[in-house]
Amino acid sequence: MGNRRQFLQATMLAAGAAVLPRVESTPVAGGARVVSTWDFGVGANAAAWPVLARGGSALDAVEAGARWAEADLCNPTVGRCGNPDRDGVLTLDASIMDGDGRCGAVAALEDIAHPVSVARAVMEKTPHVMLVGAGAQQFAVAQGFQKTPLLTDSARDAWREWLKTSKYAPQINAERQTRPGDKTNHDTLGILARDAQGRLAGACTTSGMAWKLHGRVGDSPIIGAGLYVDNEVGAATASGVGEEMIRNAASFLVVELMRQGRSPADACREAIDRVVRKRPEASKTLQVCFLAMNKDGDVGAFALHRGFVYAVQDASPGPHDRLQDAASVYRTEQK
Ligand code: ASP
Repeated sequence: MGNRRQFLQATMLAAGAAVLPRVESTPVAGGARVVSTWDFGVGANAAAWPVLARGGSALDAVEAGARWAEADLCNPTVGRCGNPDRDGVLTLDASIMDGDGRCGAVAALEDIAHPVSVARAVMEKTPHVMLVGAGAQQFAVAQGFQKTPLLTDSARDAWREWLKTSKYAPQINAERQTRPGDKTNHDTLGILARDAQGRLAGACTTSGMAWKLHGRVGDSPIIGAGLYVDNEVGAATASGVGEEMIRNAASFLVVELMRQGRSPADACREAIDRVVRKRPEASKTLQVCFLAMNKDGDVGAFALHRGFVYAVQDASPGPHDRLQDAASVYRTEQK
């Protein structure tokens, strides 16, 4: 695309014509784009973008982005710095999917630093889609992933503090408050990419809800709940209280709504409305967020409550770490 434009510009200049207007909406990497949930999505996008910029696959890009988030030692809800469950055990959930319907997932995985890569190995090296718990760990080790204790001192301290009340009460956008002075939103990293060939892929990785029951699995590793991708239509991912996404097969729903002609933002909004219609009272006190991209790379998002942000990166001019506020049903950010 870039070469063609340069050729046209050179031809028109030679003919004395005006230079073609800059086509700002046409990324130089042929329409490649990556989007990620929350403000830490900026870092994930920065890790994913070089893959797309050199013509790599959307699948490699989302894995690179998710691995960045899993290694981020500032993030108490994703990867190795995640908060543990109520028994003090850190369990990780992740999934990966490409637009051809290939997918893999792991749930309740312990002591393996990169669950998204284990999920990819499940997808590529087994006839299965999901492995859980001890079986997922056994598979990971057999694939060469190193088993290493992951719970950080700060996560252990936060858990000990939580034990004083032992109250499981997820709060809207409140996992950011688990560390003194921590000002960022912390939830699941959901990442969606479109590569220069127009292929889509997505990944989702999380330590789940802090202080959950041991063995609890959220939406993130469940294909159709926390993540869904279809090259014919688009891709969607989710963050927030995963039980709501599972109840509504929500990421699948968002993609199917786009299939019916809805824009990404509109599809996310309708999925949020379903959550509200099913559980109007509960939805006042919990956060649910959707992020979607259609096959053309258009992006949209919607949340139940104010405070959900997502990051966009592509080859368009300007800052490459654009953070966008998602619209929401409830406008007041709850603390
Ligand atoms: N969706 C994740 C889960 O329920 C957590 C989150 O995104 O906040 O495990």
